[in-house]
Amino acid sequence: MAGTRWKIVSVRKMPPEYRGTPRPAIAVAGRSNVGKSSLINALLGRKAVATSKQPGRTRNVQRLLINDHWDLVDLPGYGFAKVDEGVRVRWRDLVTDFLSDHGNLRCVLVLVDVRRGLGDLDREMIQWCADEGVRASVILTKADKLGRGQLSRTIREVGGQVGDKVPVFPVSATKHDGLEFLQDAIAEWVTEDAFRSAT
Ligand code: GDP
Repeated sequence: MAGTRWKIVSVRKMPPEYRGTPRPAIAVAGRSNVGKSSLINALLGRKAVATSKQPGRTRNVQRLLINDHWDLVDLPGYGFAKVDEGVRVRWRDLVTDFLSDHGNLRCVLVLVDVRRGLGDLDREMIQWCADEGVRASVILTKADKLGRGQLSRTIREVGGQVGDKVPVFPVSATKHDGLEFLQDAIAEWVTEDAFRSAT
């Protein structure tokens, strides 16, 4: 049942690096301004991360320990419309090094602005997950910006592009639409016994 397993008791900021066995983790990726901070705060029901007023600013990986059980990993946003090759390489190295080392990654949420569709780096992130056997999911943000018909078409279109193994969740952080479905999925991913690849 939607929302029944989701209760955030505690959120603690942690250093990004791990000591010992990594906890189950959900990573959140997306281009700058996609609505990542807003979504994290809406999902957790508190202002856990600052919404960015300086887009494009270089940021590091941020890690939030949720309920002393699992980590929400906020990956740096990947620049603006025109990402030059240097930025792209730095971003890719930072993110893939971090994610490759993790070992207990349950899903990478790839946030995509519903009005923009998939970008090159979104596709790269999804492909990286497929290559590494890590589950990926596309989160269509700012779903409130589209009318119902257009939203359904976009969901179908993006779903067709990413394939059956990558679930697509439309959400609106401002209207709180679609959050419970995503919360339920996350609750399942972080509590399942061991990561089972979606292959
Ligand atoms: P970030 O850079 O990816 O962390 O994005 P932010 O969370 O800071 O949001 C970027 C901009 O998009 C801000 O102006 C937000 O108010 C707006 N925004 C974020 N989520 C939504 C949403 O669900 N609906 C609408 N309409 N705007 C949103």
